[in-house]
Amino acid sequence: MRRKLAAGNWKMNGTGQALSELADLARAHPDPACDILICPPATLLHRAVQISADNAINVGAQDCHAEASGAHTGDISAEMILDAGARHVILGHSERRQDHGESDAAVCAKAQAALNVGLTAIICLGETLAQRDASATLDIIAGQLSGSVPDAVTGENLVIAYEPIWAIGSGRIPEPAQIGEVHGFLRARLKERFGADISDAVRLLYGGSVKPENAAEIFAVPDVDGALVGGASLKAAEFSPIIAALE
Ligand code: PGA
Repeated sequence: MRRKLAAGNWKMNGTGQALSELADLARAHPDPACDILICPPATLLHRAVQISADNAINVGAQDCHAEASGAHTGDISAEMILDAGARHVILGHSERRQDHGESDAAVCAKAQAALNVGLTAIICLGETLAQRDASATLDIIAGQLSGSVPDAVTGENLVIAYEPIWAIGSGRIPEPAQIGEVHGFLRARLKERFGADISDAVRLLYGGSVKPENAAEIFAVPDVDGALVGGASLKAAEFSPIIAALE
């Protein structure tokens, strides 16, 4: 049985002060019935790991480089993330695909690097509004899935986040049936490629404007194993009811 996962992506938000939110979250969920993950900016990783050493919050990064080390100013490697004490990394978020021109192949190489050192890769994919309007969603998802996910997946070390680009930060979310269609499709494709044992172990998150008000409806959709939450993960008071809806 897959354990549900509530993942928060702080994006480029938060200085040291924001870590009090993490402590508040930990206090509100001392023994959670789901996994809780916070992905702060890289500058806060180490401190976040220290704060969560004796609580149930997991800490992850938002990106890594595909290479193990070298002349890549400003980048961090998967091993550095592991060394900081984090165990997860978000890869291929649409903001990185857009702002940094990351292709499926680039995301796949990063994911391979993450898996090589034992990190869990949270690979993001999703369609634009134009692609949805053109009924191209499943084609886009299929291409991103096959291009971004490396062969070395064992199940638990992979999380897929379906994030329609038009739903991110917009307050708009797809109909539950639309989410269910994509998640069912993802599960079927993973099964085709990796077999039932691995595909059954991969957690599929929905992301894009998840809020306390819509969380329960989203989590009731079959094959939704949790959420990747942006804006609503910044404050413990807002993220906490989303976690509670998953528990
Ligand atoms: P949002 O972002 O929850 O602020 O829409 C989600 C994401 O980009 O992961």
